[in-house]
Amino acid sequence: MTDKPAPYIDSSDYLQAIVNHNEHPTLIIDTQYRVIMTNHKLLGIARKINTGSPSMHCYEITHNLSKPCSGKSNPCPLQKVLQTKLPVVMTHTHFDSLYNKMFVEITATPILDGNGEVLHIIETFKNVTRQSKIETALRESEVRYRSLFEQSGDAIFILKAEGPQMGKILSANKAACQMYGYSEEEFLRLSITDLDTPEHAAKAPKRIRRILEGETLRLEITHTGKDGKVFPVEVSASLMQIDGRKFVLSIYRDISKRKEIEGDRDVLIRELQHLSQTDGLTGLFNRQHLDKRLTEEMERARRYGSPLSLIIFDIDHFKRINDSYGHIIGDKMLQTTASVIRDTLRTTDIAGRFGGDEFVVILVQTDIGIGVQVAERLRSRIGQELVPVREGQTAGFSISLGICQFDGAFKRAEDFIAKADTALYEAKRNRRNTVCKI
Ligand code: GH3
Ligand code: MG
Repeated sequence: MTDKPAPYIDSSDYLQAIVNHNEHPTLIIDTQYRVIMTNHKLLGIARKINTGSPSMHCYEITHNLSKPCSGKSNPCPLQKVLQTKLPVVMTHTHFDSLYNKMFVEITATPILDGNGEVLHIIETFKNVTRQSKIETALRESEVRYRSLFEQSGDAIFILKAEGPQMGKILSANKAACQMYGYSEEEFLRLSITDLDTPEHAAKAPKRIRRILEGETLRLEITHTGKDGKVFPVEVSASLMQIDGRKFVLSIYRDISKRKEIEGDRDVLIRELQHLSQTDGLTGLFNRQHLDKRLTEEMERARRYGSPLSLIIFDIDHFKRINDSYGHIIGDKMLQTTASVIRDTLRTTDIAGRFGGDEFVVILVQTDIGIGVQVAERLRSRIGQELVPVREGQTAGFSISLGICQFDGAFKRAEDFIAKADTALYEAKRNRRNTVCKI
């Protein structure tokens, strides 16, 4: 069988047909930049067009220039093709007929003659403005991201989020190097768990899995620096996706200073709280605090029906003691009374100085029978105390005590105190140095 003869094709018509079918603006030029052929799609990017005129040059049509393209932003495709005799791809900046800036990707393909010399080149133009804008935006965001990464005062790490090396450090910024004492190369050999203290290292895989599920973790943990020093850090960790791959972006802030300030503040608050509840001379609770605690204990006794007793006592003839030995000795006796109270009572009992030489003891979960025994013990112990008053001389002192048990009829703390006061008054009236119950 013989081959059918090839149909006769007029090569210029054939070429024009190919050019017309090209989906992108296309032109064919000779080595003198003269336009031989175009397709109508060129109208979309052309600044000046007169396809009929053989004298038009490519740079006139595409850029409205009077000489060939040059420079870095618009290099000449023909020059490049003449040098290499190979197809080239390059991007040009264009302004369309409405002066909108656009980016055009030019593919210039040589048509060679029988000797391998360039006869013509076919140039196709592809509008890549949108892509280019995206690339620029990406480049800008990359620059922004890098400067944030490098200039941040917080330590920033990028970690592997998946696979057996989950938690491996892939990137660390300058602040991280300063905070932990490792160089960037050293960090790249570590996993984030190498910085965690053991109790946190154990929890790291679970935390990374939560991040992979889309959670942003914010917590305070402890980290260890290269020198072994442990310090508190505040973590903010979230998922980061680059080209479809998942990473963890972890930001750490050293909060040692803040913790120190918080610690100082807590100590100060506790001290202030203590001061506001305490009598300066004896270290026992003051009147305000006793009122508060008595109200609370009365409420508890009312709710649970538990017994509650209250002792009020007062130093006998204290004015005389002050007058005889001076206020400093008087103060000493008040302090001695406070030490006896501390040594005699249970820790659950609440004792304080009510004012002057008057003291109050709240006996929780105690009925009046036991309360009287406690009161007697206090009286007896105080009676045994001897306070040095002058060179080689000591003096003793006594107290009178009133006691009463909580009665549901007492509405307020002052009702309870008034009743115990009545018992104290009785004790004073009798012969002092005694316990009276009511
Ligand atoms: P009584 O046996 O009836 O209680 O007689 P008293 O002299 O103790 O009388 P009263 O309890 O009324 O007097 C209390 C005295 O305590 C009056 C005051 O001068 C003295 N006083 C009050 N506060 C202090 C103090 O902080 N230090 C000293 N040294 N004395 C105080
Ligand atoms: Mg007194």
